[in-house]
Amino acid sequence: MVKSTSIAQEITNTIQKTIGVESAVLHEPEFSGNEWKYLKECLDSGFVSSVGKFVDRFEKELSDYTGSKYAVAVVNGTSALHIALKLVGVEAGDEVILPSLSFVATANAITYAGGIPHFADSESKHLGLDPFALRDYLKTASEIKNGKCINKFSGNVIRAIVPMHTFGHPVMLDELISVAHDYRLSLVEDSAESLGSLYSGKHTGTFGAMGILSFNGNKTITTGGGGAILTQDENFAKLAKHLTTTAKIPHRYEYVHDQIGYNYRMPNLNAALGCAQLEQLPNFLESKRILFEKYKSNFQKLKGIQIVSEPERCKSNYWLQTILIDKEVEHMRDEILNVTNDNGVMTRPCWRLLHTLAPFLKSPKMDLPIATSLEARLINIPSSPKLIGSEI
Ligand SMILES: *Cc1c(COP(=O)(O)O)cnc(C)c1O
Repeated sequence: MVKSTSIAQEITNTIQKTIGVESAVLHEPEFSGNEWKYLKECLDSGFVSSVGKFVDRFEKELSDYTGSKYAVAVVNGTSALHIALKLVGVEAGDEVILPSLSFVATANAITYAGGIPHFADSESKHLGLDPFALRDYLKTASEIKNGKCINKFSGNVIRAIVPMHTFGHPVMLDELISVAHDYRLSLVEDSAESLGSLYSGKHTGTFGAMGILSFNGNKTITTGGGGAILTQDENFAKLAKHLTTTAKIPHRYEYVHDQIGYNYRMPNLNAALGCAQLEQLPNFLESKRILFEKYKSNFQKLKGIQIVSEPERCKSNYWLQTILIDKEVEHMRDEILNVTNDNGVMTRPCWRLLHTLAPFLKSPKMDLPIATSLEARLINIPSSPKLIGSEI
């Protein structure tokens, strides 16, 4: 048997060799463009908050970049998901299918909309929802009544499905769209991690009724905190804007609100940062791809370890580079995490599966063998675009 320390040490060495430096964090934002300039414009103009030209500009540029007909900028990705789920009709007591292997925000947003997270398994090529396992499961666990998908066990309506493009790798969208269609489920894409990722040449987040993006500090581009709702539907776009701006009816001076709205609008300061970041996105993506190629060629020499690469017909943004350790070495995962982190190389396991977290212990779920295996074997390694700046 191979000694665990040697594998952990080998991984540490491989990462250090690839990035050409001894220590690195998982993902660091880079501000080498017009950030200062646009922020100064914001401050000089006095428009730092919810009114200002950068919000409109950022929305326009996001829509141009993603090919989404509409983009609505909001305070973060979680609020984007909350509003998207409300708009597709998630109501109190409705169940919403999501992968257990996701960040907690996906499940939280479902509960904000009054829904009940219903956890589904993943598959190991795309790291996202497995459409085939889901179809098999729904065949026995649900029935269609009056055009609605009903969970046979709970009696609740299963209203929507929220696939997530894990670490920037697009899910099997064609197959999921077909499941959503057959089971009358609205599709909302959690594309928080996949800005710049394409499926069949089309940007992720533009396939479902709605999609969302996140611009948190650790994402591919950042606005400090921020998010966006993507949709092709004019009515959804209008309602998304309305709901995220306190549902105020436009008027010169009257405060009339026609429903309970939210204060979710992205401030102008954050949008200014976003405009500067978006200009650099193509460079970030190129660097991340180069970093992936380097990791790939170096990790090929290690037994028992694979680097996750983009699935067929997909272009991944390689937001977080990911290694997958073989089943035979999965008992060494924590040792690998300890040794890398002790040596200045920041690594992280993937999230604890959501169905095992305290708030979701009673949530409905299907069998989750693949997600469970992936959780035991996935490790994220340093992924910042600047890591290719330092050649060895
Ligand atoms: C980052 C992220 C979110 C939420 O984004 P915030 O902007 O942090 O609210 C949602 N889902 C996934 C999968 C994420 O990684």
